[in-house]
Amino acid sequence: MVLDSPREPLRAADLTSPRPEAGEVLIEVAVCGVCRTDLHVVDGELPEPNLPLVPGHQIVGRVVEGGERFAPGDRVGVPWLGWTCGECRYCRSGRENLCDFARFTGYQRDGGYAELATADERFAFPIPEGYPDAQAAPLLCAGLIGHRALRMAGEAERLGLYGFGASAHIVCQVARHEGRRVFAFTRADDEAAQGFARELGAEWAGDALGPAPEELDAAIVFAPVGELVPAALRATAKGGVVVCAGIHMSDIPSFPYELLWGERVLRSVANLTRRDGEEFMALAPSVPVRTEVELHPLAAANEALERLRSGDVRGAAVLDTAPSG
Ligand SMILES: [Zn+2]
Ligand SMILES: [Zn+2]
Repeated sequence: MVLDSPREPLRAADLTSPRPEAGEVLIEVAVCGVCRTDLHVVDGELPEPNLPLVPGHQIVGRVVEGGERFAPGDRVGVPWLGWTCGECRYCRSGRENLCDFARFTGYQRDGGYAELATADERFAFPIPEGYPDAQAAPLLCAGLIGHRALRMAGEAERLGLYGFGASAHIVCQVARHEGRRVFAFTRADDEAAQGFARELGAEWAGDALGPAPEELDAAIVFAPVGELVPAALRATAKGGVVVCAGIHMSDIPSFPYELLWGERVLRSVANLTRRDGEEFMALAPSVPVRTEVELHPLAAANEALERLRSGDVRGAAVLDTAPSG
């Protein structure tokens, strides 16, 4: 499924099979998760995608050939971070997520909305056994970014999650496992998301713009809605942190300094490092994180993106490359 131009539907295309270059593996894609970031790419909110582009950066598949690290048949996952330079000041200080020259899967490199994909083998990793392909896919971005965001939230006992989609449904489970209390903030009338959050261990779920039931020690904003930032700051206690976990967000409205005063911290989380991937792939089975997915055939990628856009997905949407019917 190919993006020819932003703000146009993806097009089903017969592409020449990709060839792995030195250090790359060719992967037979089994499934690819659908991420909010894919929507930002398709909607033209992220600049200069490598058009024509195959989106998708939560790839689960099996190695066909290439590279040295994996054997043919090995199951691997490919996340958003597709390549880094290894030489810039960020790469040399353990912050490859901030690399000035990073290349991202399904953005600057072709991704997994396809039957075949290539990846730099250094940025692919093994998928924990026990996760079927489809259930593993959301671990690769929703899980990884959620994990990084939760670490940035520090030791917070009372954790607010703003937006209860793919990432929050995973973070909620990890946070409960760590003994934290979880409060889920959604659109006022989104009873489906609120019920889902309670099923996963949130002790309260309700209107993100209404009053919080009690002070939070930290909040993670997953929904790409700038208006939620002052709302989350208002709900957060002195010394607490508000983490913006998305790659794009509508403008943040101005707010009184009083909301930030008291050593509250407002920060973003950008991308991921390979270390995040290794950490989270070890952590997920020990919780154990159980992902809820809805499967769509690859050819229905546009419909899956539309369901994500309208907030209709419970858990995560995943594209399945197996021919349907
Ligand atoms: Zn770099
Ligand atoms: Zn993503």
